[in-house]
Amino acid sequence: MTDPGTDEERTGGQGSDEERVRTTIEPTLDERFAVPLRGIDVDPEARCAHWHGEVDVVALRFACCETYYPCVRCHEAATDHEPVRWPRDRFGEPAVLCGSCGERMTPIAYFECGNACPGCGTAFNPGCRAHRDRYFEPDGNPDVELDGGPESGDQRRQDARDP
Ligand SMILES: [Zn+2]
Ligand SMILES: [Zn+2]
Ligand SMILES: [Zn+2]
Repeated sequence: MTDPGTDEERTGGQGSDEERVRTTIEPTLDERFAVPLRGIDVDPEARCAHWHGEVDVVALRFACCETYYPCVRCHEAATDHEPVRWPRDRFGEPAVLCGSCGERMTPIAYFECGNACPGCGTAFNPGCRAHRDRYFEPDGNPDVELDGGPESGDQRRQDARDP
């Protein structure tokens, strides 16, 4: 686990003291977003202090507080309760926010979107898949993965070599 924090946020001095990044902790919500959202140093596209790469524009909803956070560490920092993952029986409800355009996706749509927003086409971080079980209740069956089908690169390679 790396902590990338530091100087880059401080440079750029646009002069204005109106914070370009903010820290929002319970009970305050971030009114720049159309959904309830909290986090640490959240930028206007829902990047946060922990994940602030170009593609880190997704925020995820937690069932414990029905609030969106850019990441689970933001949830930890902004609340005093344990995170509750989005439950499978609510996978038909919006629980993923594109910080770029404000599109809300169900987990199903998010898993199937091919790492790009269905609303605006912005690329999402494909590495988020590795942390999916921190945000969404897993299937329970390790053989079945709710995911995008045959498009992913490694799978394609295997298909080509079918003997
Ligand atoms: Zn919560
Ligand atoms: Zn965060
Ligand atoms: Zn979008």
